[in-house]
Amino acid sequence: MKVLDLRCGLDHRFEGWFSGDADFESQMERGLVACPLCNATDITRLPSAPRLNLSGTRESALVATQGNQDIVEPIAAAQAAWMHAVRDMMANTVDVGDRFAEEARRIHYGEQEQRGIRGRATPEEARALRDEGIEVMAVPLLPGFTEGLQ
Ligand SMILES: [Zn+2]
Repeated sequence: MKVLDLRCGLDHRFEGWFSGDADFESQMERGLVACPLCNATDITRLPSAPRLNLSGTRESALVATQGNQDIVEPIAAAQAAWMHAVRDMMANTVDVGDRFAEEARRIHYGEQEQRGIRGRATPEEARALRDEGIEVMAVPLLPGFTEGLQ
């Protein structure tokens, strides 16, 4: 099974499940791939990237962790799309630095207004947050990454 990121002419984004590239192309040719929202068949395939899924989550959070644990390694082909998604997320989150775990909990338990945050946490902290049902996304700290974003 292969999950493809697809987009229709009205910019609705959705996932399609296919047995492979050939299956996708064959279904496209026969007009069987349609947008679930508007039923359009002018579908474009998007470059696949590790899911960041910012908009759909109630607490969107970005954690930068040191070390390899829980880190999504972007492969070269997906890197541009991935960087773009991370930049989007950076633009839509507030940097709370080392108070990340504390802030994420306060938002989760309703002591703080809901907002997207990012910051630093250890892999242990990130795991503890997930155990409490708080969604966090771990990304590697890339060299030079924070420059030019402020
Ligand atoms: Zn659509």
